[in-house]
Amino acid sequence: MKKHLLFWPCIGLLALTILSGFIMERAFQAWFLDHTDEELSSVASSVKTALNKTYHDNQIIRLDRITDDTNQLKPNVRITLLRKDGSVVGDSELTPSQITNQENHLEREEIREALTDGIGHAKRFSETIQEDLIYLAEYFHDDNFDGVIRVSTSTEHMTEALWGLRTIMAFIVLGMCILVALLIVASQKLLNQHIVSSQEALEANVAERTKEIELLHRLANMLAACNTMDEAQQVVEDIVPRLIGNLNGAIALIRSSRNQLEIKLDWGGKWPGESTYAPHECWALRKGKYHLANDEHTSLPCKHMAKVGNNQSICIPLIAHGNTIGILHLYLADQELSHEKMQLAFTIGEHLGLALANLNLQDKLREQAIRDPLTGLYNRRYLEESLDHEIMRARRRNQCLSVLMLDMDHFKRFNDTFGHDAGDYVLKSLGSLLTESVRGEDIVCRVGGEELAIILPETGGENAGIVAAKLCENVRQMHLELNGQPLGQLTVSIGISSYPMQGDKGESLLKAADLALYEAKESGRDRFCYSQVQTEAMMSNTKNLVEKIMEGSIASENETDDQTDKVAKG
Ligand code: GH3
Ligand code: MG
Ligand code: MG
Repeated sequence: MKKHLLFWPCIGLLALTILSGFIMERAFQAWFLDHTDEELSSVASSVKTALNKTYHDNQIIRLDRITDDTNQLKPNVRITLLRKDGSVVGDSELTPSQITNQENHLEREEIREALTDGIGHAKRFSETIQEDLIYLAEYFHDDNFDGVIRVSTSTEHMTEALWGLRTIMAFIVLGMCILVALLIVASQKLLNQHIVSSQEALEANVAERTKEIELLHRLANMLAACNTMDEAQQVVEDIVPRLIGNLNGAIALIRSSRNQLEIKLDWGGKWPGESTYAPHECWALRKGKYHLANDEHTSLPCKHMAKVGNNQSICIPLIAHGNTIGILHLYLADQELSHEKMQLAFTIGEHLGLALANLNLQDKLREQAIRDPLTGLYNRRYLEESLDHEIMRARRRNQCLSVLMLDMDHFKRFNDTFGHDAGDYVLKSLGSLLTESVRGEDIVCRVGGEELAIILPETGGENAGIVAAKLCENVRQMHLELNGQPLGQLTVSIGISSYPMQGDKGESLLKAADLALYEAKESGRDRFCYSQVQTEAMMSNTKNLVEKIMEGSIASENETDDQTDKVAKG
């Protein structure tokens, strides 16, 4: 609200008050004149009646004698009687001698009107009594009198009343002015308060928006820096609730097969909806735009939210590079999401869509780089990298590890008999069997062809032998069929090498296991063999130990002791 918006109504109010005062004064004047006219007319009638009853010779008439009986005369009313020629014959205010000296009144306005129209009015200053007077003159004739009766009265009452009225009006105007001034001051104060509070609200709003922008910026930056979904989960869990409050939310991404969505991360508690669901179970995916389970018209929760009944939830599609890559879910239960928060959720969805699409792509590329496409097992590159890594860890923790090198027996013959597709099928099945047969932390790899390797961390040669024997048995028991045709019995040969006995490098361990595998093949297949390098290592270690004893340095070489123990055990 601006100042002039208040100023002009106040000025208008004042003008209206002054105008109404003026109109009231005019109305009062008109009323007063009418009232006086009636009064004077009534006095004139009384005088006429009195004149009728009294004999007079139409010379000088003593008005006091005529009117005393009737008692009609009022102290402020003056009566004058005039002949038709304008000469004064009686006057309630004058003595007979003064009457005789009165000038002719024929030219007076009211007398002329009375003689022509029967009645005449006038208002003017009287030189005789030095006052403003109102005159009423009436023509009158009877047996005794033929002339004009003029009745007059002072306007003093009217003037007094008018001044009274003006004083009242002045007070009203003054009161109005004070009221208007107070109103202006009060409104200005209110206006200022309003401006200050609006400004404060605006500043708070700007501060909140700035914080949101900063958080969104940070979310985008942190997500871009994430390498894994777990890291993204941490970032989202930390930043998203700061943006849209403590709501339960989740991100579901579409699998590359595009036939299922999987909840990849959630925040604000465990996600209450389904952790995997088909695309057709989400309205947002079907519509290609966000979906509120309950709006003012409908109540249509998605199927993947069936567990939470009719409670409020929202699904927002995540778009990246023009493709829908998943859904941002928010579970509101019985809460309402404001329009601002909803917009914020859309913006978060945009950031998450892009970032998670990149992360997914990174994951896919990383997987492609380390996985064998046929069996899904790790490839040779991953085997070499992780073997070096595991050896370092084993060294740090003073532990041992073993490597199994596997090769299908007579696989060439198998291929020739059943075909290459059956061979591929066997390789896939063998990959799954091996993965299921070993511990989660063991690393199963396809080295190439039908040759596989398994890293067994924290496992000495003896235990590795137990694992190898179990694997040989499991493969023997693996009765595969393809298109209803049994594929016969399959067997594998396994070579075993262990750290530190066969070497402290990945390359040497693999070589040793390969040699042991050759050994297994040579000695009849479908069996495992320990690497013979073991004895050489032990011998060299023992030789070193003896040398050190000879040099008397044994006391400070506890590590060598431990290793020798382990070698002996192995
Ligand atoms: P053995 O190891 O018992 O001495 O005999 P083998 O017949 O298995 O001999 P070798 O290991 O040299 O044979 C490798 C065969 O594995 C050659 C090829 O036909 C088959 N092979 C290698 N890679 C694949 C593959 O990806 N798919 C199929 N189907 N066969 C493969
Ligand atoms: Mg083979
Ligand atoms: Mg081979």
